[in-house]
Amino acid sequence: MMATNGKEACGLNGDAPSVSSNGSSDAFTKKSVVGNGVATEASSHSKLQNGGAGRDERFAFSSEPTIEDIRRMQAEFTDERNWNQFHQPRNLLLAMVGEVGEVAELFQWRGEVAEGLPDWTESEREHLAHELSDVMIYLVELAEKCHVDLPQAVLRKMALNRQKYPASKVHGSAKKYTEYKD
Ligand SMILES: [Mg+2]
Repeated sequence: MMATNGKEACGLNGDAPSVSSNGSSDAFTKKSVVGNGVATEASSHSKLQNGGAGRDERFAFSSEPTIEDIRRMQAEFTDERNWNQFHQPRNLLLAMVGEVGEVAELFQWRGEVAEGLPDWTESEREHLAHELSDVMIYLVELAEKCHVDLPQAVLRKMALNRQKYPASKVHGSAKKYTEYKD
């Protein structure tokens, strides 16, 4: 399925984007502070980077490109093609949802899939990587066009999520926050 305007979300396709050299995303190096003043989640990321106990076996991303790098690459890609005229928020939202559908198509009729996709071929994994990238590229551009500073918004939302779901209260439970009693 093609996205609106008959084109895929692109920008990571060999256009030799420039990537910042600071080596890490500010979003993960700054401490976020929740309402009660407790500094949180930066530490769990540090554990991943530093091989901390418990979570160091998890899959981790490369530190680049950052979300800002992705925003800039896609902006350059659309400017070079004079496509910015089509990339209003509503169009970008619909394009992103279309790409989510393309991701869903890859999982459709397979039943549950184990972490790491052990039964998928390399070609299927690469196809998934492409479609997830399309979703992310449109998400980042949608946030840009709505003037949402996405990395910082994620920090604020994670702080809210931690307040809504205190680990001590919800550990091991999949209940929605409205189902917990104080
Ligand atoms: Mg796609």
